[in-house]
Amino acid sequence: MTHRTGQTALITGAGRGIGRAIAVALARLGLRLALTARTSDGLEATAALARAEGAAVSTITADLADPAAPAYLVAETVAAFGALDVLVNNAGVLLVKPFAATTMEDFDRLLAVNLRAPFALAKAALPYLSARGAGAIINIASAAGKRFYADQSAYCASKHGLLGMNKVLAAELRPLGIRVHAVCPGGVATEMTTGQRPDWHPENLMAPEDIAAAVVYLLSLSPRATVDELPIRRIAADPLWG
Ligand code: NAP
Repeated sequence: MTHRTGQTALITGAGRGIGRAIAVALARLGLRLALTARTSDGLEATAALARAEGAAVSTITADLADPAAPAYLVAETVAAFGALDVLVNNAGVLLVKPFAATTMEDFDRLLAVNLRAPFALAKAALPYLSARGAGAIINIASAAGKRFYADQSAYCASKHGLLGMNKVLAAELRPLGIRVHAVCPGGVATEMTTGQRPDWHPENLMAPEDIAAAVVYLLSLSPRATVDELPIRRIAADPLWG
């Protein structure tokens, strides 16, 4: 039990990978969960795992590339639970492609999901996050938000932007009682990396549960302490590269 027990969290990208691990971890903390992704199969599998931990769960399918999705997701969460205390902006897409081959459509798609949607979700959630004076926003950024990776121009731009937003919201929303945190993982063994980084060996990567543990840590901080950015990297990696 923590001060978060009984709160409601909306977790994007909850159908697999890091989002699924965060959902299970927050279920164990006693939160009520609204889970979202585009496809329902993975979402329902995550929901079953969270319910097995005793959580009340609602699943909502939506495409975060749709500008109408953020307001819809917040409205559905509040309709299901009457509150929204924790927003976890986890959904994201990676593109590994040389700059010269990256199209403006690629760029717009990555920015829409990785940056515009978290911004719009934070805006839509703001009145609810501030309502009880103990809200939180967790942005799952990346080591690619802190430094460059060749062939990831659109992804790095989106994650640098997310960290910029995180810095401003952390300062601006603190007087409203809302904590804003970013987690910056290095390589994690998920579908994202098996698909786009076949050069990475899964045994050298972190597990989604490692990132979920970082989220639990941030949500468990005492009212006296906060952490704006939490980098977490795989032990097998070069310290500079995550
Ligand atoms: P993943 O395995 O590919 O899972 C991504 C999740 O996001 C899925 O549930 C997916 O479900 C959902 N999603 C993707 N596009 C969406 C869209 N347009 N609208 C709504 N939902 C969408 O990825 P992951 O590795 O768990 O990554 C989670 C987060 O961690 C991302 O923000 C990623 O950038 C970040 N991250 C990952 C790593 C890594 O090494 N894996 C490292 C650093 C940071 P649907 O396809 O059903 O929509």
